Amino acid sequence: MQGNTNTQKKQRPRRRKKICAFCVDGVNEIDYKQSDMLGRYVNEFGRIKPRRQTGTCAKHQRALAVAVKRARHIALLPFVAE
Ligand SMILES: [Zn+2]
Repeated sequence: MQGNTNTQKKQRPRRRKKICAFCVDGVNEIDYKQSDMLGRYVNEFGRIKPRRQTGTCAKHQRALAVAVKRARHIALLPFVAE
């Protein structure tokens, strides 16, 4: 028998369901003074990462956006990175 079973489709990495890190921690309000934490949610250009990248839920993504904006205002985060 010479059935070549090597024609299987490439297995896609199953997209694991991301869970919101803030929900896990039970965070209600995101502290804008934690710039190192906020730094994980902005990309190298200083932009807020989309939910699909971070897995943050809608509620916390909104809170996060506010926190990032506050952090920018007091110069903890850059508005735009060079
Ligand atoms: Zn959440």
